[in-house]
This record gives sequence, structure tokens and C-alpha cells, in this order.
Amino acid sequence: MTLKLSLSCQLSLLVVICCVMAISAMPNPRAPTKGSLVATAESGHFSYDDPNKWKEHNSLCAGEHQSPINIDTRKSKTESFPPFNFINYDKSLPENLENNGHTVQLSIDNLIKDLPTISGGGLDGPYQFAQMHFHWGEAEFGSEHKINRKQYAAEVHIVHWNLKYGNFVDATKHNDGLAVLGVLIGLQDKDNIAFRHIEQFDGIIDPSKKNKKLSYSVPLKDLLPTNTASFFRYEGSLTDARCNEDVIWTVFETPIAISHRQLAKFRQLSDDHGKPLSRNVRPTQHEHDRIVTYSGAAPAGTCRACAVCAAEAANRRSESLDSDESKETIKPNKRRD
Ligand SMILES: [Zn+2]
Repeated sequence: MTLKLSLSCQLSLLVVICCVMAISAMPNPRAPTKGSLVATAESGHFSYDDPNKWKEHNSLCAGEHQSPINIDTRKSKTESFPPFNFINYDKSLPENLENNGHTVQLSIDNLIKDLPTISGGGLDGPYQFAQMHFHWGEAEFGSEHKINRKQYAAEVHIVHWNLKYGNFVDATKHNDGLAVLGVLIGLQDKDNIAFRHIEQFDGIIDPSKKNKKLSYSVPLKDLLPTNTASFFRYEGSLTDARCNEDVIWTVFETPIAISHRQLAKFRQLSDDHGKPLSRNVRPTQHEHDRIVTYSGAAPAGTCRACAVCAAEAANRRSESLDSDESKETIKPNKRRD
């Protein structure tokens, strides 16, 4: 039996087929296209030549909770978080260094029991250490976070995952999956012993070379600032081209220090293309609706304390001047009365 369709039926069928074809051909902004930066970022290959272009290939990088940011202390709200607990941060554990083509990363053997862990500090933890890596620039400005537009020479990120999610990969699927401690690094003349232990870069200049086991392990506490009670807290993302918005950020207000000689050694590493890895800094991102929280008392002489006090004093002075001026304008009138 031959199936005969009326002309109107045939036209309707044609329209439906065309619609299905058109919808299936539409690009899905979240789906990685073949050869896109998403795929390459996940496999660890991306470039710092123009980080502003990451979003062209990975829509997550255009999100509204991206990192790093410039922390404007005048806009931050103050809250008193309990102190951090740094568990096993004082232990020298077997550590590996890896040049992954975009940073130098330090990890600790997973088989070790009692891995470093953090809790407290207002975190819904505990969070366990995953890895630590560094960001640096071509000159003396290489930190990713800035405080009141001040950029430091470098920055260390100590990455932890939330133990309640069972493993690192599952943790990265949640807004509070990772807790990263950002430690700003300033310059000083003399070497910092903590970096002298890390800078065993011979053997990992080229990223294709295998990991290097550190001869001298660095207790993580050696890379913490003297004051860990004063810090900024906000919700953000990884700062590489994956851009996942799954990080509770802590940026300590007090920096640590590195010597010029030591910082130069980071720039001697090579990237995936054999070129010097001279910088690995993502520009600061817009904060959008996010509010940065500040916790802790700044030590005497730090710029925040001075900036806040100066701003408050200026406000008081201007209020006082306003009221004085109004008094002055009232007085003559009164005299006239
Ligand atoms: Zn980082």
C-alpha cells in the first residue's frame, strides 16, 4: 500500500525536519567543542599570552564569580571569624615538584597518612591539602590578587578540598568544594629559606621532564605569613583557564617575602612551547555582586589599618567641618537677631 500525503502534510513534515536539524546544529555554550581551550585546559595546556581570551573558548571564564580580584578594603565588610587550625602544617613530608607548563606545583605523596589539613577560619571544613603552586610576573609585579590596587611580586596558592565530598574531583563540583589560601609575596634582599628548599628546579626546567622529589621538604607553615588572623574572604574561582567557580578564597593581609635572586629562578622555567615561563598571572576580574569580608585585627603599621583609620578620620573631619560651617552660618544670623 502506498502512503499518500496531502501537500499540506508534506510541507508540515518538511518544517519539522528542518527545525530538528537547525536545533541540533546550534552550539551548546557549555559543551566543549573539539580542540577548544576547555579540553586543553582540562588536560593542563593553556596560555598566559592573553588570558582575556579564555572566555572565548570556555564560557565558565565569563562567569560573575571569577578570580583573582582587586580587594578594595573600603568596600569590604568586617566580620570576626575564629582562628584557623593548621593541622600537620609543621611536618616535613615527602614532596614532589612539577613544572606543568604553566606553574611550578608542589604536591605531597597521597599515600601519606596525616596530610596537612585546615579547619576554622570561618570555613565549613575540614579541608585537606591537594597541591600548592606559584604565580609570578616578568618584573616585580606578579601576584594575582591585589589589595587596594597594590600588586605584590608573586603569590602562592595552597589548594585544599572539602573532605565532606569524599575526593578532590567530586569536591570541584561544589561552590564550597575547594579552599585556597592565597599568600602574597613581597621582595627582600636576603633569601627566604622556605624558597631555597623549593627552588630545586634543575631537572624540571622543561615541563616534559618527570616530577622531582624534593631533597629537603618544606613544612607548609614556612610559607604562611606571621599573621594568619588577618585575612580577606570571598567566593571565587580557580585562576587558570578551567575557571571553575568552586573556591572559598582566603587572601592573607600580611605578605611573606622572597629575594630577587630566588624570584628570577622561577622565570627560568620553560612553558609547553619551550619558551621561558616568564609570567603566569590572570588579570583581576570584576567582583559583580560579591562582598569581600575582612576578619582579624591588622597589625600596627599595616596599610589597611592606616587606610581605614585615615578614611574614618577624614569622614569625621568633614562631618565636623560641615557642622562647624553650619554653626558659622547660623551665628551671624543669630547676631543679626
Ligand atoms: Zn593559582
